[in-house]
Amino acid sequence: RPVSHVSGIHFLQIPGPTNVPERVLRAIDRATIDHRGPEFQRLSLEIACLLHPVFGARGPIVIYPSSGSGAWEAALVNTLSPGDRVLMAETGQFATLWSRIATRLGLDLDMIPGDWRHGADPDAIGERLAADTAHAIKAVAIVHNETSTAVTSRVAEVRAAIDRAGHPALLMVDTISSLGSIEYRHDDWGVDVTVAGSQKGLMLPPGLAFNAISEKALAASRTARLPRSYWAWDDMLESTRTGWFPYTPATNMLYGLREALHMLDEEGLANVYARHARHGEATRRAVQGWGLELVALDPREYSNSLTAISVPEGFDADALRATILERFNMSLGTGLGKLKGRVFRIGHLGSFNDLMLAGTLCGVQMGLDIAGIPHGDGVTPALAQLTNPAPALALSR
Ligand code: PLP
Repeated sequence: RPVSHVSGIHFLQIPGPTNVPERVLRAIDRATIDHRGPEFQRLSLEIACLLHPVFGARGPIVIYPSSGSGAWEAALVNTLSPGDRVLMAETGQFATLWSRIATRLGLDLDMIPGDWRHGADPDAIGERLAADTAHAIKAVAIVHNETSTAVTSRVAEVRAAIDRAGHPALLMVDTISSLGSIEYRHDDWGVDVTVAGSQKGLMLPPGLAFNAISEKALAASRTARLPRSYWAWDDMLESTRTGWFPYTPATNMLYGLREALHMLDEEGLANVYARHARHGEATRRAVQGWGLELVALDPREYSNSLTAISVPEGFDADALRATILERFNMSLGTGLGKLKGRVFRIGHLGSFNDLMLAGTLCGVQMGLDIAGIPHGDGVTPALAQLTNPAPALALSR
């Protein structure tokens, strides 16, 4: 272990798992109770209520003891039948991974190609649907916040494009790195299945995953024929009404979830989203000051939960990350898939404040110095933005 790691705290600035607040850690650190007893039932029903505002959903939200990938699979197997066509948009690594699950399940994938620098294109989706007069496409599945590229898709515009095409396809949205950090509205945006995970905006360790379910998705699940057992909604839905899970729930994670939901409620969701917007903007000002390039190209799609940054030609982003870890005890996100070595990512989602961002940006700037990557001063404009917020810059390159 490097000497620099012996004292002080580790900066976990990957875009999830995120820093787990003390309050949540203390809530988890209790004896496990009987999951068939009255105390558990109260816990479970309280969580069922507290989850609704965070998803912007009035309908049921099921909770799986799994990573987010389980909730991806659950969304598909509960609503679709073998050979059903699914329309997806290649926004980056996570859209690609979700599409692989669809293909493995025997679904007919129609992937709109992408450059990994833009979100799902509402017009392209609308055109595909308008051309599908036989309604072969049964679902449109997109990633709200593509964690590999720091691009946020415009879900409301995708919904509007589906409506303009008059197409009955279900809309499924992955919010794993946006929920609880970037505004999201399951009901208002007409989303049928929202996929989420515990380890990012919800400030928990990894280990819980969610499906928020619309009436239309519930109806689809009654005729869907893909095989399912562990992921089947029907038994899980019981838990949202009675508090009893069909199998052993992740009890201690649920203690943590209740505490995290109380924290979001105390701060107020609008304030939470504004905090992340400030941090996103300050980080982008740092990138501009450094003279580095954002992966995201469209200012309307800049992510407020993380920032993905390209290193100049001839430099290795993973070597920079390794230097920063070694010298300053900070973990940054690696480039994923085809961005490996070319991109590093700064997570600013979940439990996070101004001084954590200031420390993070200082660590990156010092790392750039040591790695010999030519750069300007990004810290000063970022701190100025935190002290005295100015309107968002359109940093399109
Ligand atoms: N979707 C997105 C947007 C993600 O960021 C991740 C993980 O980082 C996943 C899906 C997969 O979730 P998990 O790794 O929890 O299975």
